[in-house]
Amino acid sequence: MASYLFSALSARMPEPGRTFIEKADGSVITYGDLVDGTARLANALAARGVAPGDRVAVQVEKSPEAVMLYLACTRAGAVFLPLNTAYTLAELDYFIGDAEPALVVCDPARREGIEAVAARYGARVDTLDAAGRGSLTALAATQPARFADVARGPDDLAAILYTSGTTGRSKGAMLSHDNLLSNALTLTDCWRFTRDDVLLHALPIFHTHGLFVATNVVLAAGAGMIFLPRFDADEIMRLMPRATAMMGVPTFYVRLLQHPGLTPETTRHMRLFVSGSAPLLADTHREWRARTGHAILERYGMTETNMNTSNPYDGERVAGTVGFPLPGVSLRVVDPETGAALPQGEIGMIEVKGPNVFKGYWRNPEKTRAEFRPDGFFITGDLGRIDERGYVHIVGRGKDLIITGGYNVYPKEVESEIDALPGVEESAVIGVAHPDFGEGVTAVVVPAKGATVDAAAIVRALEGRLARFKQPKKVIVVPELPRNTMGKVQKNVLRDTYKDLYTRPA
Ligand code: ATP
Ligand code: MG
Repeated sequence: MASYLFSALSARMPEPGRTFIEKADGSVITYGDLVDGTARLANALAARGVAPGDRVAVQVEKSPEAVMLYLACTRAGAVFLPLNTAYTLAELDYFIGDAEPALVVCDPARREGIEAVAARYGARVDTLDAAGRGSLTALAATQPARFADVARGPDDLAAILYTSGTTGRSKGAMLSHDNLLSNALTLTDCWRFTRDDVLLHALPIFHTHGLFVATNVVLAAGAGMIFLPRFDADEIMRLMPRATAMMGVPTFYVRLLQHPGLTPETTRHMRLFVSGSAPLLADTHREWRARTGHAILERYGMTETNMNTSNPYDGERVAGTVGFPLPGVSLRVVDPETGAALPQGEIGMIEVKGPNVFKGYWRNPEKTRAEFRPDGFFITGDLGRIDERGYVHIVGRGKDLIITGGYNVYPKEVESEIDALPGVEESAVIGVAHPDFGEGVTAVVVPAKGATVDAAAIVRALEGRLARFKQPKKVIVVPELPRNTMGKVQKNVLRDTYKDLYTRPA
């Protein structure tokens, strides 16, 4: 038996001379380089004593070598564990303590600090560096370009990926070889990726979107990608004529819409724009279409489940929806309290089941048990509904639901009304402890560039549009909303900032 994920991907690879990754500076990594490079790195891991089942924690800047290290881990039977490059040493202490990796791989510049953390948990440290100076890179360069892959089956762990930490502390999601492969094959098929595609890749690769969606789809199709170290609107516009598709978070699209170069002509070569990781505003969808002629394809997924739904490639891509469940994925909407199925159209908890769904939370069997129903459905924590045409709508997170005076308020409904008001760029609606209502609906509003908005005017404008209990008790105007590295609004930060808003003694 070979290593399940890598052998399936190798079988789909094009000729060795074809481009796998082109960097923004024009240098190229071919599929031949990929196969050789992963064999050398897998040998290097084995030489460092990494045994099958060991975790390899990786905190490095985005590079083709980092992608190779991911695949080398799967070939060596190790568990790849990418970590956000924004994490501080104090944060790393939690992740390394929780994951107990055998090896931590970092950029040379981070080595010293990380060594002190790793030593606390008995992990070795190595460095990876494209220029060949990293200790693991240098060791790999001396290794043979052949490696007998460690036998791994579909249910063996390929990766532990920590969630983004939007609603609380990040959790380690255990993903098997088949979780990753099945989703990559499904998406390649649904989004029609072929060897002729070139994906514009400006996402980070420590997160499910940039790694397990974008990179795995490119690999499964034998396609190529252009690697940008980070999002840069000018760079994207410069490189777009060489690409066929892009995957991004909503912020990418919002920023690109501010770029004067975005026209039907400059996007003519592109066949697909995908958005995910956070809600894409219907306005952004419409503006993009008007400016470029392309309808952005929005999909919905999470670290624990890879991708769950997608708007259709051929059919209508409906703004404000995340499309239909992917082939092989069962999705239902239930009463969050009882778990009973709800009639079509009603808002409830979204639950999913399928080969995409993870194996559980790392070292947290209680949480794993709590998040799965007895019939195997995973409770996503997201609230949504399915409309009469079968499109799934995400209404928000269960944790963000506001209960005020006994009524449920879905923040998204209030946010949509506020966002439609003149002079408003965006808003976040949260529940804040309130002595009379339990929670008070509270709106945090960002004015559009150059506009001024008046909190009292917003309250007045909403009076005729929303039922009284949904209207914000207070509106706070701020220059921008707190976001994490994936562009997600951190409502927990807002709730913390304003927790005393209604209870503070006057
Ligand atoms: P944590 O679980 O640590 O609080 P997180 O849920 O943000 O963080 P991820 O796994 O990165 O971590 O994100 C998955 C979540 O992102 C989904 O559960 C959903 O709430 C949101 N999401 C993803 N795609 C979409 C989308 N297209 N529309 C709306 N929400 C989306
Ligand atoms: Mg989550």
